[in-house]
Amino acid sequence: MLLTITTTHSPATDLGYLLHKHPDKFQSVDLPIGKAHIFYPESSEESTTIAVLLDINPIDMVRSGRKVSGTGFSLAQYVNDRPYVASSFMSVALSKAFSTAMNGNCADKPELVDTKLPLQVKLAVLPAPKGGEILIRKLFEPLGYKVKLQRHILDDSFKDWGDSKYFTLELSHTITIKELLSHLYILIPAIDNFKHYFVSQDEINKLLEKGKGWLSTHPEMEQITRRYLINLHSLSREALERLNEGDEPQEAAEEEGSKEKERKETLHQKRLSLVLEQLKKSGAQKVIDLGCGEGKLLRMLLKEKQFSTIAGTDVSYNELTRAKDRLHWDEMAPRQKERISLFQGALTYKDKRMEGYDAAAIVEVIEHLDTNRLLAFERVVFEFANPKTVVLTTPNGEYNVLFEGMDAGSMRHTDHRFEWTRKEFESWANGVGKRNNYTVEFLPVGEIEKKVGPPSQMAVFTYGN
Ligand code: SAH
Repeated sequence: MLLTITTTHSPATDLGYLLHKHPDKFQSVDLPIGKAHIFYPESSEESTTIAVLLDINPIDMVRSGRKVSGTGFSLAQYVNDRPYVASSFMSVALSKAFSTAMNGNCADKPELVDTKLPLQVKLAVLPAPKGGEILIRKLFEPLGYKVKLQRHILDDSFKDWGDSKYFTLELSHTITIKELLSHLYILIPAIDNFKHYFVSQDEINKLLEKGKGWLSTHPEMEQITRRYLINLHSLSREALERLNEGDEPQEAAEEEGSKEKERKETLHQKRLSLVLEQLKKSGAQKVIDLGCGEGKLLRMLLKEKQFSTIAGTDVSYNELTRAKDRLHWDEMAPRQKERISLFQGALTYKDKRMEGYDAAAIVEVIEHLDTNRLLAFERVVFEFANPKTVVLTTPNGEYNVLFEGMDAGSMRHTDHRFEWTRKEFESWANGVGKRNNYTVEFLPVGEIEKKVGPPSQMAVFTYGN
């Protein structure tokens, strides 16, 4: 695994001062699982290149207990791509080899610290999930990098096996070396699918420290944070809150108003706000949340005077208990309690208690149903319960390539039975509409990405129009 940084700044040999590495010396630093070698393939006043070569020992990796996912393949801990790709090992190597430069110090030529230099970076080999090209561009381009990517095919001898998930990445930009190193430190592991060490609280501090000055204003801040913290939701949520709350003073303070607010909203909150908006717009007074889970939407519904009767149902008793806790059921004022009811029920069995409502919300539920139960669900909701409006959401499977470090074919939740493309969803929903005399309108949930659409999708069904 090789990373090179080249400058044509004049004199280009300044790179050696900045990085505190003498051009004539071959140096190595010890890593927990091997070594990083640092040397200069070229060094002249016109052009200087420094190289970092990772020499990772797979046996060390196993001995030191660095977990490499071994599921489904018993030799995976020995035979894997880690020694050959840019991953969080590279971040460790960069911070060890270039700590002085990363901290913004240069004793011999202090003026260089803030000097923007023309820099080119070449990184071979970078693993990225499916859709990796879009992701890599989305992370580097907003920072001003020119990005060149070459995707490697799986095997030269078998061209029809197609592409691999490995890229050679070339970046060019005119920035300070400190900025460049901090970008690489965070973005390389954010692109790679997993980290080699246990993600701990400490990682948040590293993220905030290295992300200072750029991460809080990066349009992909959420995704970078989530991916960097490999989707440990509580950690990434805390990191995002701290970024939003201005743990990093100037940048966060400048961002005010709606943009800031929008960022703070998680996708699910956004989704629920949109559902609420549609329910209000429908003019409904009696609403039911089918598959209400822990009752987040119910709480929002209670705050709206428009809704005189509110019901929540779920197949899971546990979820209903959590919903009661969330709603502070036992301390609820009698007037509120009169408005709301909760009951256990399945959406695949006809149930009188679901009848008589003006509108129903079905948020992120259908993907939990076996496809052979979808017709039963359709009849229970649309034919028998038959509310005038149904607001229904489900994930957009196409978006997964950009989402939370997911690989092709995987789903967002282990209990999901399917995650439909926009086409699949539309064709199902239009069928439901036709068979049950509902008109259907489709709405995106979350920001729309060029090729893959929004992260989640919504259909609003209206009866008998
Ligand atoms: N609507 C909630 C919860 C979504 S999670 C929200 O958006 O926050 C999906 C929920 O559907 C879970 O609470 C699960 O218990 C419920 N569910 C799954 N299958 C169901 C079925 N057949 N009938 C009723 N609820 C079901």
